[in-house]
Amino acid sequence: MTAIPFKKDFDFEYGRCDRLSARIRRIVAPNPGPFTYTGTGVYIIGEGEVAVLDPGPVMPEHIAALDKALEGERVTHVFVTHHHLDHSPMAKPLAQKHGCQTYGYGPAQAMPEDCEVRMEAGDDRGFTPDVLIQDGAVFSGPNWTLEALHTPGHTSNHMCYALKEENILFCGDHVMAWSTSVVSPPDGDMGDYLSQLERIRARQFARLWPTHGPAVDEPDAFLGAYIAHRRRREAAILGEIEKGQTQIRAIVETLYSDVDKRLHPAAAHSVFAHVIHLIKQGKITTPGAAELGAQYHPVSQIAHAL
Ligand SMILES: [Zn+2]
Repeated sequence: MTAIPFKKDFDFEYGRCDRLSARIRRIVAPNPGPFTYTGTGVYIIGEGEVAVLDPGPVMPEHIAALDKALEGERVTHVFVTHHHLDHSPMAKPLAQKHGCQTYGYGPAQAMPEDCEVRMEAGDDRGFTPDVLIQDGAVFSGPNWTLEALHTPGHTSNHMCYALKEENILFCGDHVMAWSTSVVSPPDGDMGDYLSQLERIRARQFARLWPTHGPAVDEPDAFLGAYIAHRRRREAAILGEIEKGQTQIRAIVETLYSDVDKRLHPAAAHSVFAHVIHLIKQGKITTPGAAELGAQYHPVSQIAHAL
């Protein structure tokens, strides 16, 4: 059993613009938290006429840092990976300042109003990109070419962007070096998530640049462990249900006993995502609607009882 080779060391300073490669620079916004790690890493791609990816939150000191880093340059595209509050709110103001447009997959499925847990930094409900883009769309500027990859799972509208010249992927919240990602129904989907991890792995990128924290330097090994972790988790959840455990909350207490309690509500949503995936695979069932508080039973036992 291989554990995920998490990497938590991250060399950064708020507001400082770091050069990461010939074409990539990054500024980290001062919005640390349990889901954002040290904050939102905003990527600037190219030189002179540049693209900005996930400009982050609207905070005066962050705006000043971005303006300073972009001095004398023109932003031609503002790309967004998804509609979470730590990623997209600065997209429109930045695009307006530079006279360009915002690009993304589109609005996500709205979370129910009575959703008991604020996921991540929350949804940027007003987010709608100027240009709605599809999987495979290609954009370019001087010396850079970005390909959009629709990667639903974390959210239904999640997009990754591949930089062709460096064979790297800006992977948003799809993959993080320091942590697993949150997959929360109904907008998040575990089946989609797993197949999009497999897809990214098959592309054999040289490096992944997530929005939060450090880069993933060995994507193939990392993604292999990342996928195996989810499959193990799903098998453990099925195991608990087969042992007679019917409630998601109780499964979380058992399987996430070593995890920060602040993350348990999010973990419940992750377990819920696996539960829905197990239902879709015909392995478990529930008498009514699949909900967080519903009761779940293995299909095999029901078959026996009949
Ligand atoms: Zn997110």
